Amino acid sequence: MTENEHIATTGDDSESTELCAQCGVSIDTSEWHPVVADDGADGELQLYPFCDETCRDEWE
Ligand SMILES: [Zn+2]
Repeated sequence: MTENEHIATTGDDSESTELCAQCGVSIDTSEWHPVVADDGADGELQLYPFCDETCRDEWE
């Protein structure tokens, strides 16, 4: 008997994809996409990826 409950998840490719900070769509990070760097309240730098410039503009 073989237990196959450890089926691969769909979240394993997080190194090559990110989610748009505005609309949540997957971004192929191997291609150019807008990224905004912003300081949080604690001064920690955060990077926000966007699928295109329209989302980046709307995100503000
Ligand atoms: Zn977007």
